[in-house]
Amino acid sequence: MSEAETQAPRGVRLIITLVGRRNAGKSSFINAITGQNVAIVSEHAGTTTDPVAKPYELLPLGPVTFYDTAGLDDVGELGALRVAATKKVLWRTDIAVVVAEAAGLGEAERDIIAAIRRLEIPFLVVFNKIDQGPPSEADLAWCREQGIPAVPVSAATGEGATAAKEAIIALAPAEALHEPVLAGDLFGEGDTVVCVVPIDLAAPKGRLILPQVQVLREILDGDAVAVTVKERELEAALAGLRQPPALVITDSQVILKVSGDVPEHVPLTTFSTLFARFKGDLPTLAAGAAAIDRLRDGDTVLMAEACSHHAQADDIGRVKIPRWISQYTGKDLTFEMYSGHDFPEDLERFALVVHCGSCMLTRMEMLRRIKECTRRGVPVTNYGVAISKVQGVLDRVLRPVLR
Ligand code: SF4
Repeated sequence: MSEAETQAPRGVRLIITLVGRRNAGKSSFINAITGQNVAIVSEHAGTTTDPVAKPYELLPLGPVTFYDTAGLDDVGELGALRVAATKKVLWRTDIAVVVAEAAGLGEAERDIIAAIRRLEIPFLVVFNKIDQGPPSEADLAWCREQGIPAVPVSAATGEGATAAKEAIIALAPAEALHEPVLAGDLFGEGDTVVCVVPIDLAAPKGRLILPQVQVLREILDGDAVAVTVKERELEAALAGLRQPPALVITDSQVILKVSGDVPEHVPLTTFSTLFARFKGDLPTLAAGAAAIDRLRDGDTVLMAEACSHHAQADDIGRVKIPRWISQYTGKDLTFEMYSGHDFPEDLERFALVVHCGSCMLTRMEMLRRIKECTRRGVPVTNYGVAISKVQGVLDRVLRPVLR
């Protein structure tokens, strides 16, 4: 691993969730690998009730949040609530650590391993308390057969803690280790890139919006030539170029006019498509847009916004996109708006999630939200991709980006 690969980009905070029985030593395991007393450790089984979040710097990975969850073997009504809370955290988890006592992998551990696998969460098994006895050969052999990393640890003495930390770091998703590229890979030095920026009533006075500024900056950083026009001047600008541009990037709201003006052989995409790739998993968001074609009468679509803001009269999430999707499908659909850093409890009742552009979220946060939808079996797309879909230009705007 190069130095660059071991540095988590700023704003990335991996969620590492510990699961296991009561008193398997999850809290003391966190303490052992962090060298800090970050969770309540008690001699009494099941001290941890709701998942406890603890931020920590796990070098060389960077900032992480550990979730210390309730015991899997918790019984009774409260126990069921605690186990349900653990499940909720798993939906958002980047790496899971199954903590087993030296006593081994029983039904509770194998059940949770099966659940973690269904959710496609990278995980390892830690056999804790080896100071009281080693893990059984049968359990170690089973982990080997299943391809599961297994690390014997004594949280009490610290033995194996470094190996466990290294095993966790090795499971970190690639997106936590690499800064994504916004547009810089789509053109070369000396190329011309045309940006189409409508200046309408919705445009802020006296400035460009952040996505436009960021793209322009990448064009300049790549020693390419940026030509910025409004949609009305596009045809003339294209006619004035000696060679066709390497790329045209437009605001989604004028994509129909722009796709008519830009010859088919010139690569064309939208700022939203670039940001969908930059901030999330574009292939999954594109697959989610295909679910628009499968919507049926009576379906409910969730319009998910990561933060609350003042809604305008012709709000994109509340009014425009629901209207366009309804017109495109011709179906009788219900749209519900939800703002916040989580999803509704009953996410599974939605036929589709259409997520906002996630400008206030880090890439990891957005990827986690996309993963949660996938884990819960609900297709997810975002505003920009959905707009291109209902305007019939999705294939064209994805072509330069999904090469
Ligand atoms: S697009 Fe940005 S400002 Fe709007 S709801 Fe999403 S994160 Fe918040």
